[in-house]
Amino acid sequence: MRRDLVIIGGGPAGLAAAVAAYGAGARDILVLERDVELGGILNQCVHNGFGLHAFKEELTGPEYAARYVEMARERGIECRCGTTVLDVSSERTVTCLSPERGLETVEAGAVVLAMGCRERPRGALNIPGYRPAGVFSAGTAQRLVNREGLMPGRRVVVLGSGDIGLIMARRMALEGAEVLCVAELMPYSGGLKRNIVQCLDDFGIPLLLSHTATRVLGRERVEGVEIAQVDGHGAPIPGTERVYECDTLLLSCGLLPENELSRQAGVGLSSVTGGPVVDERLMTDVPGVFACGNVLHVHDLVDHVSEEAAHAGRAAAAYVAGGEGETGRRVAIEAGSHVRYTVPSSVDPARLDGPLTVRFRVTEPLRDVALVVSADGRELVRRKRRVVAPGEMEQAVLGPAVLADVTGPVTVSVEGGDRG
Ligand SMILES: Cc1cc2nc3c(=O)[nH]c(=O)nc-3n(C[C@H](O)[C@H](O)[C@H](O)COP(=O)(O)OP(=O)(O)OC[C@H]3O[C@@H](n4cnc5c(N)ncnc54)[C@H](O)[C@@H]3O)c2cc1C
Repeated sequence: MRRDLVIIGGGPAGLAAAVAAYGAGARDILVLERDVELGGILNQCVHNGFGLHAFKEELTGPEYAARYVEMARERGIECRCGTTVLDVSSERTVTCLSPERGLETVEAGAVVLAMGCRERPRGALNIPGYRPAGVFSAGTAQRLVNREGLMPGRRVVVLGSGDIGLIMARRMALEGAEVLCVAELMPYSGGLKRNIVQCLDDFGIPLLLSHTATRVLGRERVEGVEIAQVDGHGAPIPGTERVYECDTLLLSCGLLPENELSRQAGVGLSSVTGGPVVDERLMTDVPGVFACGNVLHVHDLVDHVSEEAAHAGRAAAAYVAGGEGETGRRVAIEAGSHVRYTVPSSVDPARLDGPLTVRFRVTEPLRDVALVVSADGRELVRRKRRVVAPGEMEQAVLGPAVLADVTGPVTVSVEGGDRG
């Protein structure tokens, strides 16, 4: 079978890419989703706060996902659920498996990778103790509570202050559990400021910064978690240990882009984001293979996922229609001071038919700073920001005229400011 455009993953990224590709003229589009329904992880995010940017409305996760499912349906885009992609080759041969159709291969004119991310498991964290029942990733607990109507426990400690951990601390409290604390290894939270206020402060849940779990107590079921303060190198400080008696430990210790398929396709991955290295079209270093959403880099707001994915979808449609096209000069985009990474990591200025959005994260919380994009010894963009933090994605928008005669590299930096 041959299809013009195959999109792997029917979450918000895959659906937004499909809808935008359709809008850009592609018609032969196939979305492959391993789950039994479309919508991705948003189906279990029943809280509100989604869609403020994309729809200027406050929606729940399932409502936000449903808007895109409906848009795909209205356009007659073929979406196959219950279909797991097993392999993608560098020639864009996609191998997938489903109960109805068995093993199939699809030759794709272009591929969009939109497989999302997964949670960092406890094994990667090396907390001493037995492996008693009662240790869950925050996302698993979210699914149990919100979709399956099951309570993981009654007295809860949360390790890690990423957004999912913060949201689940509030969810467990709303469901009647006692949430004793959220412990965070870093001296700052990994989540959005608004989630710290709305999920912890409003519920009187303490946030212990520079703390970690040093032991899980209990053999059959969690009976307690020992939490200790850490020094500047993340090492527990002897004598600061305190045991919190609880029956449940929720882990919210980071998300990892899901890139096994990308690796099989020979896509080059960034050692910082764990996602593909992409150009201004969000195309990877394998021609015709694009990436967007959490598989590319972990986002905090789904609205940004949809925007980015629409860009990838339009670019994939253009690739299907015209192939690689004329290439001009390639200019690197690099992370400067206080910046961890940038997406994309290169641009061909001649290809730009509109502004280029460069997304990035800072390395540490800072106050009263300037986000500065510079190249060839001059500033292209300077924007003041009162507060920046690693948990909040930043972006700089560069007009095509600004980049027209740049030879590069283009550097994105954060200047000035106090540690905040
Ligand atoms: C537990 C959890 C909770 C979150 N809560 C929030 C929140 O409250 N607010 C917010 O803005 N963001 C939240 N996020 C971030 C959220 O992931 C993004 O906002 C958004 O859902 C990312 O969209 P995506 O399409 O990139 O990924 P996903 O929504 O994860 O979708 C990826 C899809 O790809 C499919 N897939 C993966 N591999 C394959 C394969 N081999 N074959 C076929 N299909 C495949 C998956 O089944 C999934 O449906 C959360 C993330 C997680 C993990």
